[in-house]
Amino acid sequence: MNQYDYIIVGSGIAGLYTALLAKEQGSVLIITKGSIDDCNTKHAQGGIAAAISKNDSPELHFQDTIAAGAGLCDEEAVRILVNEAPDRITDLVKFGVPFDTLGGEIALAMEAAHSLPRILHAGGDATGEHIELTLSKQVRPSRIQVLEDCLATEILVEKGKVSGIKALDCHTGSIEEFRCRFLILATGGAGQLYKFSTNSEIATGDGIVLAFNAGAEITDMEFFQFHPTALHLPGVTPFLISEAVRGEGGALCNVDGRRFMLNYTPDGDLAPRDVVARSIVYEMGKTGPDRVFIDVTHLPPQVITTRFPHIYRFCLDHGLDITKGLIPVAPAAHYMMGGIKVNSWGETNIAGLFACGETACTGVHGANRLASNSLLEAVVFSNRIIEKTRGDTEIKAPTTRQGKEVHHSLSQRQIPQSVPTLSLSALQQLHWDKTGIIRNKEGLTQVADTLAAWQKALPQPTDRPSYESSNLVLTGRLVAEAALLREESRGAHFRSDFPQSSPRWQCHIVLTR
Ligand SMILES: Cc1cc2nc3c(=O)[nH]c(=O)nc-3n(C[C@H](O)[C@H](O)[C@H](O)COP(=O)(O)OP(=O)(O)OC[C@H]3O[C@@H](n4cnc5c(N)ncnc54)[C@H](O)[C@@H]3O)c2cc1C
Repeated sequence: MNQYDYIIVGSGIAGLYTALLAKEQGSVLIITKGSIDDCNTKHAQGGIAAAISKNDSPELHFQDTIAAGAGLCDEEAVRILVNEAPDRITDLVKFGVPFDTLGGEIALAMEAAHSLPRILHAGGDATGEHIELTLSKQVRPSRIQVLEDCLATEILVEKGKVSGIKALDCHTGSIEEFRCRFLILATGGAGQLYKFSTNSEIATGDGIVLAFNAGAEITDMEFFQFHPTALHLPGVTPFLISEAVRGEGGALCNVDGRRFMLNYTPDGDLAPRDVVARSIVYEMGKTGPDRVFIDVTHLPPQVITTRFPHIYRFCLDHGLDITKGLIPVAPAAHYMMGGIKVNSWGETNIAGLFACGETACTGVHGANRLASNSLLEAVVFSNRIIEKTRGDTEIKAPTTRQGKEVHHSLSQRQIPQSVPTLSLSALQQLHWDKTGIIRNKEGLTQVADTLAAWQKALPQPTDRPSYESSNLVLTGRLVAEAALLREESRGAHFRSDFPQSSPRWQCHIVLTR
C-alpha cells in the first residue's frame, strides 16, 4: 500500500500551492479527477486582493471584507487573511507568477466594494490562468507525485483519525487506497448545482461530500454567491464579465439603455455582489427580458483591449465587439461561501483532516465574499496548514473555531409520491429556480424533498459522472436545508418570506451526518 506524509485532493491554486510547501516537509501525493489544470482557478479573471500599496493598509482591507460579509465574518480569520496577504503575494512572485506592472511597480486595480485599488492581476484579465500554469509548471518536474484522472471517493478514518483515502481510477474503474498522515481537501466549489454558472465542470461539491460522510462539520451552506454579470448570449455557457470591468468605469444599463443601479443603492454599479445581482433580477422583472447590459463603449478601445484582453477576445469570437456594442449580462452562480468548517489552521473536527480553498469555510467571507478574496484565502490558509503540520509527528486533536453556531443533522424528509427523474439538467433547473438569488419556504421545501427522494434512489456510483451526480445531490440537500433553516435575509441569502436580517440569526448553521 502507498503511504505518504501528505495527500492533497485537487490541483487548483489551493492544492498546488499547498503541495509546493508540503514537499519541503515530506512525501506528497496530489490526486486530481481530471488533468492537472482542470479547475476553477484557471478561470479567475479579476485578480487577487492584497493591501500592498502605500495608500492601503491591512486595516482598510479588513474593514472592506467585514462590511461585505454582512455580520458573519470570523474576525480572527479576516485579520489573518489581510495581515498575511503581502507575504503570500511575495511567495507567488517567487514561484514566478507574472503580475502586471506599471512603472516598475505591481499594478493595482479597483473592484466592487473595495475602498481603493488593491487587486493584483496578471495578463490583464487572465490572472487565474497565469497562477494555475505557473504553479503546475513548478509541480510537474518536482518530487511531488501527481495522479490525474483519479477521483477521491471516500476518506478512511481509523480510531477518530484520518488514515488515508479511497480513489477511483477513472480509466480502469478500479478503486485504490492510499495512506497518509495528513489529508488535505482542496476540491473547489459546487457551481454545477445551478443551471447558470460561471464554474467549470469540476465544481460538483465532492470535498463537501467526502468530509460530510467522514463525520466532518459543514457550515454556511446557504450562502452561495451569484455573480451579477455573466455574459448572456443564446447558446453560450455563461462567461464571467469581471467586476473589474465596472471598476474601470463600465456601467450597467437596462434594455432601454437607462442606467439603473442608483435606483436600488447609493453605491451604484460598484455595490456588493448580492446587491447588484438582486437589483438586476428586479430590473429584469420590470423591463421584461432576461438580461441587462454593461456599457464600456465610452472607454478608450485601447483600455478595453489591454486591460480585458480575455473578455474582449471571447466576446469578439462570439460576434460581439465590446468596444462598439453593449455586453448582454445576467447573474450566474459563482462561489460557495460555505464549506467544510475549518479553524484558522485549516483543521476540521477530524484529526489529520484539513481543507483549504473554496471547499473550506474559514469564515473570512461571512455571508458574502468580497471580490478577489478567494484566491488570497486559498494561499493564506494553505500556508497555515503546512505551518501547523510542520515537524508534527503526532496527529493532535483539532481545535475548534470561535463564534455562535446552531447545529443540525440532515433532517429526515417526507419523500414525495412522485418526483421528476434525476438528471443533471433537472437538478440544475430546480436549484436555479428554487435555491437561487431569491428563495422562499415553499420552493426550498420542494428542493429538500425532491433531493432526499433522489438520494434515496441513487444506485452505488461506479464512474466519474455517477459520483459527481451523487455528490451534487447531497451538496444540494445541504444548501436547501441550511437555506430553509435560516429564516431571515443576509448577504447572498435572500428569503422573500423573511426579507429582513434578524439578530437571532447572527450565527452559523453547522450541518453534520
Ligand atoms: C469564472 C471565475 C472567475 C473567478 N474570478 C476570481 C477572481 O478574480 N479572484 C478571486 O479571488 N476568485 C475568483 N474566482 C473564484 C476562485 O477562482 C476560486 O474560488 C478558486 O480558484 C478556487 O480554488 P481551489 O483550488 O479551491 O479550487 P479549484 O481551482 O476549483 O480546484 C479544485 C480541484 O479539485 C479537483 N477535484 C474536485 N473534486 C475532486 C475529487 N473528488 N477527486 C479528485 N480531485 C477533485 C478538481 O479537478 C480541481 O483540480 C473566480 C471563479 C470563477 C469560476
